[in-house]
Amino acid sequence: MRKEVLRWEFQGVLTPRDKDEDDYKYLTFNLPQACDAIEVSYEYQGGPKCVLDIGIIDPKGLFRGWSGSNKPKFTISVEAATPGYVAGEIPPGAWSIILGLAKIPPDGCKYRVLASAFRLGEAVSTGHGFEEHSLKWPKRKQALASGWIKGDLHVHSHHSDGKQSIPELVDMALEQNLNYIAITDHNTRSQFYEVLGIKDPPVLLIPGVEVTTYRGHLNIWGGDWFDFRRRRREDFVSLINEAHSRGLLVSVDHPRDLGELCIGCDFQFKEVRGFDAVEVWNGPWFLKNWESLAWWHSLLSEGLKVTA
Ligand SMILES: [Zn+2]
Repeated sequence: MRKEVLRWEFQGVLTPRDKDEDDYKYLTFNLPQACDAIEVSYEYQGGPKCVLDIGIIDPKGLFRGWSGSNKPKFTISVEAATPGYVAGEIPPGAWSIILGLAKIPPDGCKYRVLASAFRLGEAVSTGHGFEEHSLKWPKRKQALASGWIKGDLHVHSHHSDGKQSIPELVDMALEQNLNYIAITDHNTRSQFYEVLGIKDPPVLLIPGVEVTTYRGHLNIWGGDWFDFRRRRREDFVSLINEAHSRGLLVSVDHPRDLGELCIGCDFQFKEVRGFDAVEVWNGPWFLKNWESLAWWHSLLSEGLKVTA
């Protein structure tokens, strides 16, 4: 049984002016002593043109997760967490809830955020960080192919806005005879731990992250987390440099203008160079994938060696 020991409430209105100043709003609460769990829930009003994302940083400065705008509530405990968040110690000190100002209408977005800290009673939780799954795979394991192999370098799981767990995605990949998939959830890091914890997967599983900003999305494969709070050209140049200094590859995802349909999806700094790849096809072709393909072609015409 768990017992709520402290609760914080935040309310306010975020305006277009707030977004001009910063894409993120920080709500800080001070946990006087270590706890067993924290839970954060939020809601906002302002019509369809109001969208707020959410995530959290712990008192040690560790980024503990992000759920965009697809989960109204998340829990982090010592032993388990909502997918997208990292389980582990709940240290005392200043916790910062990050609200991402994805879309703010002229009249603003009214928000309310609740945070609670819990202690566990006598009945100790037997939970754990990740869901158990039946390991029925090894018999179906694919032989490592040589020559052309196929896979998907941009896949979302329930650690961000995907519907499936990672084991379910692996099963889907097997159904499609894929040789590899990269799990590139938005902005968070919890998928790395799960991917790296799956022993002997039947398809090559690549940990990754889609660095999802309001001015472009970039996939980085390899299992390192990168701060997504970037809005200026220099921020993207430094992101590419940071990834390369860690030996990782960077892809500009879906560089095409879908307007309101996809927040921040089109890369706003197409004059930036240095990335390794361009995602030329994302989702159904009719979603303007020809724009991405045309940009990649123009890069080749510049003499750049950028992988599609
Ligand atoms: Zn994206």
